[in-house]
Amino acid sequence: MTKTLPLVSPTTHRIGWIGTGVMGASMCEHLMSAGFTATIHNRTKGKAEHLLAGGARWADTPKAVAEQSDLIFTMVGYPSDVRQVNLGPEGTLAGCREGAILVDMTTSEPSLAVEIAHEAANRKVTSLDAPVSGGDVGAREARLSIMIGGDEQTVAALQPCWKAMGKTIIHHGGPGSGQHTKMVNQSLIASCMVGVCESLLYGYKAGLDLEKVLQSVSSGAASSWSLVNLGPRMLQGNFAPGFFVEHFLKDVRIVLEESKRMGLMMPGVALAEQLYRCVQAQGHGRDGTQSLILALARMSAIDWK
Ligand code: NAP
Repeated sequence: MTKTLPLVSPTTHRIGWIGTGVMGASMCEHLMSAGFTATIHNRTKGKAEHLLAGGARWADTPKAVAEQSDLIFTMVGYPSDVRQVNLGPEGTLAGCREGAILVDMTTSEPSLAVEIAHEAANRKVTSLDAPVSGGDVGAREARLSIMIGGDEQTVAALQPCWKAMGKTIIHHGGPGSGQHTKMVNQSLIASCMVGVCESLLYGYKAGLDLEKVLQSVSSGAASSWSLVNLGPRMLQGNFAPGFFVEHFLKDVRIVLEESKRMGLMMPGVALAEQLYRCVQAQGHGRDGTQSLILALARMSAIDWK
């Protein structure tokens, strides 16, 4: 019979958190609000000041974070960052004690999640992949959807942490299955974003009042998170991230690599990758994904905001 692990709690588990950017800062703050003490690290210390002022302790490296923690979360940018902060010489695994738990919440490669889980197991450490969906708003409001891969008992034991950060918490299977689910999520968003931008440009060319158009189409069958949350930002000419174009390109490229490996055609995602390359080439790599409308507007010689 499988033994149930006790729930983690602020009295039994010290939290480590690496990556205090747009998403990570809010997520770590929710864990601290739930009573966990946190040791944190970020490449740019300035982005951790708010959490430090709120009582978090600073550590100079991911290894030093792990040495002072029982449960270590990472929310960095790219797979190369995930590799460095977990498997590098100053990474978490170099500092973890036996029995520690690693949770990577970055959107990253499924194969890397499997590799980290394997390396972790060699050191009697458990590693989970737990990417999220819900955007900057979902992170701030603790309403994330969390897609988890890895040991089922450990996932169950971490319920207090998941609940502090999210609303939809689903275990999908072994290591890598959380990341694969996130790739399904990103494939959905890819074609949806193209549709949102094209349709708003159609309304613009037809001379409609786009505020009213948004009201009509946001409540019907054509609604989506992208339309409801990013449509208004497009109309306001607000292209601040949110979700960086560079990060979305990273995600669609992971989808295309994985689908190639599986012998699966994904023409919608391939088109979105081309269009987002165009957005990046036009200088919007560090803007939000809603900047796609600028690239599509340019194709039709529309002078968007
Ligand atoms: P972000 O603002 O760039 O945050 C990433 C943070 O990780 C940055 O503060 C960065 O440091 C830090 N970092 C990166 N590499 C590091 C390293 N080697 N050592 C220490 N710190 C490191 O990005 P984000 O928007 O929070 O996104 C984080 C991840 O979540 C990405 O994989 C993204 O695709 C995914 N995601 C984002 C959203 C969204 O809406 N934003 C939604 C779902 C998933 P610096 O401060 O020096 O840059």
